[in-house]
Amino acid sequence: MDLGFSPEEEEFRAEVRSYLQQNIRACIREAVLEEQPLPREWNVEAQQILNRAGYAVPHWPVEWGGRDWSAVKRAILTEEIDSMGVPRPLPFNVALIGPVIAAFGSEEQKRRFLPAIANLDMWFCQGFSEPDAGSDLASLKTSAVREGDGYRVNGQKTWTTYAQHADWIFCLVRTSREERKQQGISMMVMPMNSPGITVRPIRSIDGIHHINEVFLDDVHVPAEHLIGEEGRGWDYAKYLLGQERTSMGNVGFSRRRLARIRARASQTQSRGCRIDEPAFRRRLTWAEIELQALSITQMRVIDEGSAGDTGSAGPDPKTSILKMKGAEMLQRASELLLDTMGPEAMCNGASLEGGDPLTEEGSERSAIVSAYFGSRKYSIFGGSNEIQRNILAKAVLGLGKRT
Ligand SMILES: Cc1cc2nc3c(=O)[nH]c(=O)nc-3n(C[C@H](O)[C@H](O)[C@H](O)COP(=O)(O)OP(=O)(O)OC[C@H]3O[C@@H](n4cnc5c(N)ncnc54)[C@H](O)[C@@H]3O)c2cc1C
Repeated sequence: MDLGFSPEEEEFRAEVRSYLQQNIRACIREAVLEEQPLPREWNVEAQQILNRAGYAVPHWPVEWGGRDWSAVKRAILTEEIDSMGVPRPLPFNVALIGPVIAAFGSEEQKRRFLPAIANLDMWFCQGFSEPDAGSDLASLKTSAVREGDGYRVNGQKTWTTYAQHADWIFCLVRTSREERKQQGISMMVMPMNSPGITVRPIRSIDGIHHINEVFLDDVHVPAEHLIGEEGRGWDYAKYLLGQERTSMGNVGFSRRRLARIRARASQTQSRGCRIDEPAFRRRLTWAEIELQALSITQMRVIDEGSAGDTGSAGPDPKTSILKMKGAEMLQRASELLLDTMGPEAMCNGASLEGGDPLTEEGSERSAIVSAYFGSRKYSIFGGSNEIQRNILAKAVLGLGKRT
């Protein structure tokens, strides 16, 4: 198997890089490279620039803005977006609800939502997890009871990323009680300003407000906001998880972090770990080698054609390797980055408890401490690493029966 890139692919990479350099403002790229939280408007601005070039939703059907590119080309695009410090197109929009509406929505829903989703004119958040339904998502309890021309929805969602920025939420709700808990689940969308929706922030360990609880109290949802057929929400959720998986390894993101570590550790005034210390150099080099291995594994998975749309069967199990190793790499890189700070990390760590060091001080050092704590989440959301190991054990290694 040839794991190199063709001249056409290399040309595409150069074209993407030059477009991003010329069109995305330097202040946005610098903030991303320094891992600072971005204001909402900067995410919108960047996605609209990507969308103009056809870079926001290349994996969508062509009639809705997709580009019919190979998975390799799409992976190159993601790597360049990540390495250049460009905010990724909002995953809730472009990788999750967009493809579901394109596949199962009514014509009217497609016309109304898809262009706005691609251009981030509408910001969607994901209302799947509940206090008692995370890994075991099918245990969700939020109920949607048919009433007149719509549904009355009651329940609670949690860990809802960027609910504070969102215009709309897509939810899994229970429309009937059936013998198998995967049945009787439906998917619907609702505007976040609907009466009865309350958002309460959850402050995470990195000191930043990304996640929220969302309470749904007697929310009226018109029937035209049901996606697809009532009771088929579980199938749509599986389809959603089978979408764009070429970026699961976060290779560009880790590469960017490792380059930053090398640069910081090479500064002679550094009080933390330095590149001329053999033990630190060995750890960094080892991480770089592992990242190269992850990058090659990602290309192999893509090359085998297993990373794309797998229909309602859900994601290809091999992408679990990418998700798991990608999370471990980001966490390892965040530890090395912290080590480049030396004792200063302790002072900044303490200040995280008190206030919001990122907005109050905006210092690079606080951002590094925050990135260290923030990296913990990668092995939890989108299917925890333990769940990925279960999938690999059953579906790839054949240990026990796949459920
Ligand atoms: C930062 C962040 C952002 C998130 N954003 C969103 C969002 O926008 N929308 C949304 O809907 N959800 C979101 N989530 C929720 C996320 O998908 C869940 O946290 C995740 O699915 C785990 O569920 P849980 O938290 O209920 O933990 P649990 O499922 O209760 O798991 C607790 C622990 O037990 C382990 N475990 C559970 N079952 C098994 C098993 N069968 N075998 C082995 N180990 C097991 C888990 O790996 C974990 O370590 C987010 C989570 C985080 C941390």
